[in-house]
Amino acid sequence: MERIEEVLEKLQNYINGQFCPPIANSYIDNFEPATGQVYSLIPDSDEQDVLQAVEAAEKAFPVWSSMTNEERSQILVRVSEGIQKRLDEFAHAESRDNGKPLSLATKVDIPRAVSNFHFFATAILHYASESHRMEGMGFNYTTRKPIGIVGCISPWNLPLYLFSWKIAPALAAGNCVIAKPSEVTPYTAYLLGQVLDEAGMPPGVLNIIHGSGMKAGDAIVKHPKVKAISFTGGTKTGAYIAQTAAPMFKKLSLELGGKNPNIIFDDCDFDSMLSTTMLSSFANQGQICLCGSRIFIQTGIYEKFRDAFVQKVDRIKVSHPDDPETKMGALVSKEHLQKVLSYIELAQEEGGKILSGGTPVQLPAPYDQGYYLRPTVIEGLDFQCRTNQEEIFGPVVTLTPFESEEEVLKMANSTQYGLSCTIWTENLKKAHRVADQVEAGIVWINSWLVRDLRTPFGGVKASGVGREGGWEALRFFTEAKNIFVKS
Ligand code: NDP
Repeated sequence: MERIEEVLEKLQNYINGQFCPPIANSYIDNFEPATGQVYSLIPDSDEQDVLQAVEAAEKAFPVWSSMTNEERSQILVRVSEGIQKRLDEFAHAESRDNGKPLSLATKVDIPRAVSNFHFFATAILHYASESHRMEGMGFNYTTRKPIGIVGCISPWNLPLYLFSWKIAPALAAGNCVIAKPSEVTPYTAYLLGQVLDEAGMPPGVLNIIHGSGMKAGDAIVKHPKVKAISFTGGTKTGAYIAQTAAPMFKKLSLELGGKNPNIIFDDCDFDSMLSTTMLSSFANQGQICLCGSRIFIQTGIYEKFRDAFVQKVDRIKVSHPDDPETKMGALVSKEHLQKVLSYIELAQEEGGKILSGGTPVQLPAPYDQGYYLRPTVIEGLDFQCRTNQEEIFGPVVTLTPFESEEEVLKMANSTQYGLSCTIWTENLKKAHRVADQVEAGIVWINSWLVRDLRTPFGGVKASGVGREGGWEALRFFTEAKNIFVKS
């Protein structure tokens, strides 16, 4: 079918408080995962657009950084309220762009973006400087100033949620920002530009550049005036960014991939564990960096768990995002669906047995070209095989039995990743012992994805460098200066 470009909405960059087309006038197709159809076009920005954004940010920095915390806080609170007022519009846009159930975008993604702005808008009011007295000698006081212009680059799985998680602390601390959402899910970042206008954000403070990672993202990372990069995305991309930014001595915060273990002991609260494990396996189509994709079950309850889990998974409704009964929507893109399917094939080659799912879902028109996949459960794989070591980032989990704490820790810690872990047991001593030894930045005991925005967020090993959240984020987005005064 011939495409009529004129009828497709063209998203625009948001630079210096204005919506503007990309300088090269080149666009990228934006697909709707639920239907597999192109529904809008996004700027294919390059270094010229980034340059323009940097110039705008440079002009805005003296104004923004010299405002009081109170003044910046008020503007950011208005951004948060602006998103809240348009929650339905944002939620529809997020769900359409990403393929996630509308109910999830409405209950989780957009409310969390609202909270991110509100949290950092108010956190900055409580940010105190430190002082260290040296008896008989004098005292030190430490000031923290904004860095200047910073780059924020985010992925497609939780688009506005993660975009705002970076932007809000960067702005609250007094920086000007060049931000790039994923090219796969640009729409809510585009809508955010409209809210900024309404909130009275001065021009040039937050500039939103759309486009590909290799072109627009790379230009942000390489620009010498962008002094810090906060990046969330894949481990390979993170390594590339680190390689580019390190020789320029940029500050770097990298939140990368995961292959999280979900450790279930015989003595857990079975029902609570089972219902939460459904979520930690398949929420957002399994496309959350914190999903537990390797499920380790102690042998005493292995069969009981496997049968109950598979029975529940078989009943999950996979459908289009607007269906209120939908528990799983579409995967984010055709390429991603193919990648996940290739891992399911690999798992079988590696000797895995598919207990549930494993196949795409064919919905009736207009959703017949959408990227739907049944949630997939696999058993019988060695913990060291590729399926159990590489990040799939989709609705695929493996089940592995274990006998002892020592054995499960060895398996849990065997991957290059170390983002999060879930531990299920009623024995608190054991829970603390395992939590202490597991290689992860975030551990949930008898729960999953309970998030307090004040706590440090991030991973170890190939899951990242640095921490986001609370004071950690405000520390990252500021430079400390220690001043000593002789008494
Ligand atoms: P990518 O690494 O492919 O992309 C992330 C962002 O970086 C996108 O905006 C992308 O643009 C951009 N990008 C790509 N290449 C470059 C480059 N060379 N220079 C600058 N920017 C670049 O990740 P995905 O979007 O595929 O997201 C999935 C990954 O994110 C998974 O590995 C997941 O685990 C991880 N993740 C980690 C989280 C954490 O907190 N640790 C949270 C959520 C996800 P474009 O879209 O155009 O490619």
